[in-house]
Amino acid sequence: MKSKILVGVLVVALMLACTVAGGLGFLLWQQRQAAQVPVTPLVAVEQAVANEEPAAPPEEPAAADDAADLADAEPVEAAKGPAFVYEYLPAHSKAMRTVENFSRDMDVLRKLNEVNALDGVLMLPGPLRVLTAECEAINAYYVPDRREIVLCYEMINYLVELGVQLHTDQNGQSDTSQAARFLLANLRFMLLHEVGHALVHQLELNVTGREEDAVDQLATTLMLTLIDPDESEGDVASNLDMAGRFFLVNTSEAGYGLAHYAGEHSLGEQRYFNLMCMLYGADPGRYLRVVTSGRLPEARALRCPEESKRITRSWSRTLVPHFAPRYQRTGEEAQQIHAEAVQRRRQNTPAPYRQ
Ligand SMILES: [Zn+2]
Repeated sequence: MKSKILVGVLVVALMLACTVAGGLGFLLWQQRQAAQVPVTPLVAVEQAVANEEPAAPPEEPAAADDAADLADAEPVEAAKGPAFVYEYLPAHSKAMRTVENFSRDMDVLRKLNEVNALDGVLMLPGPLRVLTAECEAINAYYVPDRREIVLCYEMINYLVELGVQLHTDQNGQSDTSQAARFLLANLRFMLLHEVGHALVHQLELNVTGREEDAVDQLATTLMLTLIDPDESEGDVASNLDMAGRFFLVNTSEAGYGLAHYAGEHSLGEQRYFNLMCMLYGADPGRYLRVVTSGRLPEARALRCPEESKRITRSWSRTLVPHFAPRYQRTGEEAQQIHAEAVQRRRQNTPAPYRQ
């Protein structure tokens, strides 16, 4: 019953949050972009490489040989990668049916900016299915055999409850708009993490070190570099802050034992600090408060600009060769598209980061 009420309240809050903070705004922005120059979020990542290194020789587009002949012909759109398939599977229990209805009504799977923006960008061997389902566990995971990402209704429900709990003051007043933002920010991070596993598997990417850390880094990189002019740098930071908070909440209060140390995931605190390091390191001037507020120890912060740059560069180099023909860009083109998007974002949301 409790979750039914929370979900009901959040429906409104989520609609508002999506309009203001990204979901619908992003779609509108994408449509505007489509009318101008085709753009991909990873252009931003690609551009990060172009910015810090001598420009690579421009790649010849696939149809370059025939460029002269095609000059007067109708433009032929280059191929996209296989599309993502979004599905809401029926829940079995009454409690989770409420969450299923909420998820369907809100179409939450299409409000995950960075995930949606990756749709069709990469040459995957086949469609990636992104599902919501009842799992009888609070979880989200990737199933390699079926090429499916499963987001459990139990996880959505948990994030709704946790978001409300974290944004309720001492008088019992809940800030549902913040709770809705918390839900979306965490779903965005979580699903990007799972997309990371899917990419490692389907594109047979090289990963050294722990895959769990690598895909956390991909999720953070994409949330930092996706150019959505309807979200300010402050929104970007608070989204990552909220995703980091999830790790802190889910640490073991009773301390850690062998099973934790032997686990494939880093400890919650470590995942949190890794995320904060990426955020601060992406723009130390803008995100200095991450350090001065005590969320990232100075000793770690010193190395974060280099660490953040290296991770972004590594993921860029890893993914760019897998871009679908439609999204292939020379370094120069990527830089120009990126600069225009940044300019538009600053015009739309001039508010600085003040957390
Ligand atoms: Zn994982």
